[in-house]
Amino acid sequence: MSSSGFEPTIFSRIIAREIPATIVAETEHIIAFLDIAPKAPVHVVITTKDPQFQNVVELAAGNPVLLAELVSVAERIAAERTNGQFRLVFNTGAAAGQTVFHVHAHLLGSPEPTESLGEDSLGAL
Ligand code: AMP
Repeated sequence: MSSSGFEPTIFSRIIAREIPATIVAETEHIIAFLDIAPKAPVHVVITTKDPQFQNVVELAAGNPVLLAELVSVAERIAAERTNGQFRLVFNTGAAAGQTVFHVHAHLLGSPEPTESLGEDSLGAL
């Protein structure tokens, strides 16, 4: 258990630089890194440094300004790394595929022109 009272998630360990990751953006409150098992040509995980929110519903209720900042960081990364069209996915709950209970978005896209960014072209998360 950490001093904040939350069991450190793998993302907290990335934030603490205890395990390596390819960090592509960082602000005071948000960090983004390449997903270790990419499901799309561009697959970035964007998460809050504060581990208290387990999912996007909790974050939206508890700190909507931080959620807006997370989306803004995602948009900036998408502008840099994709063709401008992208998916932003928040798996919410184990049955929905969530494995890390530290709120995060998956940014999925492609730098090349794409006809579809649906699950057929990018795969299910
Ligand atoms: P979710 O299944 O929605 O909770 O997403 C968790 C994501 O974190 C998955 O897509 C994993 O591939 C990714 N992941 C887990 N460990 C790491 C890691 N050490 N570095 C980067 N991404 C990771």
